[in-house]
Amino acid sequence: MLINDGIIAPAELAAILPPEDRLKKGPVAIVECLQDIPCDPCVSACPRKAISMKEGITDKPHLDPAVCNGCTLCVASCPGLAIFVVNLAHAARAATVTLPYEMLPVPKEGGIVQALDRAGKAICEAKVLKVMKNKKYDRTLTVTIEVPKEQAMNARAIRVAQKGGKA
Ligand code: SF4
Ligand code: SF4
Repeated sequence: MLINDGIIAPAELAAILPPEDRLKKGPVAIVECLQDIPCDPCVSACPRKAISMKEGITDKPHLDPAVCNGCTLCVASCPGLAIFVVNLAHAARAATVTLPYEMLPVPKEGGIVQALDRAGKAICEAKVLKVMKNKKYDRTLTVTIEVPKEQAMNARAIRVAQKGGKA
């Protein structure tokens, strides 16, 4: 549970996931931010106004999955690294996860990395499809990886191999 160990529990995740039919349609943001903290860059980062806070800056962000088109612009805006974009419609057996990345080395497009779960445990290999840098959030890259579909809701970080080492 988030409040005990900093890791979102399955029931907590289920409560914030977009509906199944929206998830199946294509890319959509998953905002894994469950605490009332004074923070709101995600709200202004979204050009479609899909993220809102009803009760001001200390409220939790609310995503309208019908408005979100999965553009990924909000991912690097979040200082808590709590926003991901998942595309379950990517391929028959594979999904994509777009996640924030602030480590070194920087992953290479086309390369293979380890996908990690929320606890930092390696869960599968992932292909790096895209690495993007936004001038506004220049310390946070946005990385899109391809993972087996069953890992789309588990893969939330990556480990990139150091030169000469294994991922
Ligand atoms: S993915 Fe794009 S449309 Fe969706 S909430 Fe983020 S910025 Fe808005
Ligand atoms: S920017 Fe991130 S940490 Fe801040 S409110 Fe939005 S989702 Fe939560």
